Parts: sequence; C-alpha cells; structure tokens
Amino acid sequence: MSCANCRFWKRGTLRRYANTERYESAETEKGSPCRAAGPLLGFCTPGDFSCSNYRKFNTKDDQVEVVINAGEPWQVWRMVPCPDCSGNGSNDSPTPGCHRCVGTGNVRAYDDGYVGEERTREHPRDREERLVRMREDRLTQARAEIAASEVEPPPVTPETPRGELAA
Ligand code: SF4
Ligand SMILES: [Zn+2]
Repeated sequence: MSCANCRFWKRGTLRRYANTERYESAETEKGSPCRAAGPLLGFCTPGDFSCSNYRKFNTKDDQVEVVINAGEPWQVWRMVPCPDCSGNGSNDSPTPGCHRCVGTGNVRAYDDGYVGEERTREHPRDREERLVRMREDRLTQARAEIAASEVEPPPVTPETPRGELAA
C-alpha cells in the first residue's frame, strides 16, 4: 500500500505519433505526481508514501499515461505564451503588437520542441515541403511547355492544283 504500486502514481507519459513514439519520465528525486482527485492531486509524492485513495495497479503500465497523436511531432502543437513579449501581445498598451505573435500573446509550441510564430504559422517542415512542392510544380510546368513546343505540325493536305480550278 504505497505510491510505488498505486495506479494513481504517474511515472511518465508515452506520446505516440503516426510513426514514432516518445516516453517522458515524470519521476524526480522527490517522487512522482499523484493523479488521484483530492488534496494530493498534482503533488509529487515519494514511492513509500500512501494515503486513503490508494488503489493497487494491475501492472506498472497503469502508471504511464498514453497520449495518441494522429500526426508526427512537428504536426502536433499547443498554444503557449509568446516568448518575445512574455504573453503580453497587444494588451500591454505601451507595447505595439508583437511581431512574433502578431499581438495575440500566444504562439504554437510543437511536440518536436520548435516554438513558432503567428505571422505564417509555418513550421520549418511545412516550409520545406511547400518549397519542394513549388519546385515540382515548376518542373512539371516546364516539361509541359517543352513537350508542347515539340509537337509535330499537322500533315499538309495537298492543295487542289491551280490548273484544275481554272478549268
Ligand atoms: S498519494 Fe495516495 S492516491 Fe496518490 S499515488 Fe500515493 S497512494 Fe496513490
Ligand atoms: Zn508576442
């Protein structure tokens, strides 16, 4: 009967993405967070602690939260306070609209660690893929133009001899 084998103790989070996964440990020197509703919710408790909310786990997996994401880490994001204006945006009247968050006070923080900006909302991977698509479109267009310029002219039909017309 201790936190170490209680189902409410959180050892970490397993983040699953489309093709990858990442484990984030929640364990610290002081213990791990309690997830039971009550006065200890969110508190870091040591493994040998216990309380009346104790529920034995089935396996240690019960102590790991699993988060399933449809995309890859660079496609998953949450809004966080803008690091350039500390989340003040345009609400801080002496400061004009922040360039990074365009005055909203928030920007996207992606699961791969990249913190974005609100002007384009473009992750570097999005930009990379957009440029590749643009290059491919240009190539396709150039090939089509070359092919069109190399089309054989239609065969010339023999004209009626002038002499016959005159007859
Ligand atoms: S504090 Fe209580 S409910 Fe929370 S993990 Fe420990 S034993 Fe479980
Ligand atoms: Zn800002």
